[in-house]
Amino acid sequence: MKQKIIVAIDGPSSSGKSTIAKLVAKHFNFTYIDSGSIYRAVTYLAIKNKLIKTGKIDVVSLIDLLNNCSISFSFNLNNQNVIKLNNLSIDKEIRTSEISNYVSLVAEINEIRKYVLKIQKDISYNKSVVMDGRDIGSVVFPNADFKFFLDASLDIRTSRRWNELKLIEKDLKFEEVKKDLLNRDEKDTSRKFSPLIKSKDSILIDSDELDITEVVDKIIDIIKKEITNK
Ligand code: C5P
Repeated sequence: MKQKIIVAIDGPSSSGKSTIAKLVAKHFNFTYIDSGSIYRAVTYLAIKNKLIKTGKIDVVSLIDLLNNCSISFSFNLNNQNVIKLNNLSIDKEIRTSEISNYVSLVAEINEIRKYVLKIQKDISYNKSVVMDGRDIGSVVFPNADFKFFLDASLDIRTSRRWNELKLIEKDLKFEEVKKDLLNRDEKDTSRKFSPLIKSKDSILIDSDELDITEVVDKIIDIIKKEITNK
């Protein structure tokens, strides 16, 4: 078997990427990397420092701030992702709907994408990884061994996300979540740098009619067949 295997899982928000990527990584004992959490951490930093005003980002100050602080990505004893800002864990802080509302705005800035790309490459160095995101198969690892594109309809994705978020934000409305997803889909697919696209060589999996186990099994089967033939 090849020493280092890269599995890229891309797709729109709430298509189930992270749950599925984690389970696939666990099965093969690969490292799971949630690339969206790095964009969320940068967004948290921007909001905390009031660098987003009336929908506009002060890019120069944000880059300056990034050069003078540390966003680090590491793993705990259970091999779970831990994201830290200046050595303090911000895993909970980056999951709010406020961060979700602004993250696509931050992720369209090319300088930010370059900054995140370096972190993505550094953490994958010398490891077999399953990384999820929007541009993993197209830009981050165009030579990935396996590329999957997970999709699901807007309504299905909204109910998944709403069910997750209402545990921490009780008053959150279904329609608000739907609007945020639509907005992120639009921003992620139409931005100039590294837009969300299904690359030609990726395998499309529509999870509308499939549950998590079915999707995971499908992906594991494809990978297994290929690596046992090498
Ligand atoms: O995956 P998650 O929803 O946490 O990602 C948050 C946002 O980060 C996405 O909506 C997208 O704007 C951005 N992102 C990206 N490229 C990636 C991963 C995430 O642009 N590889």
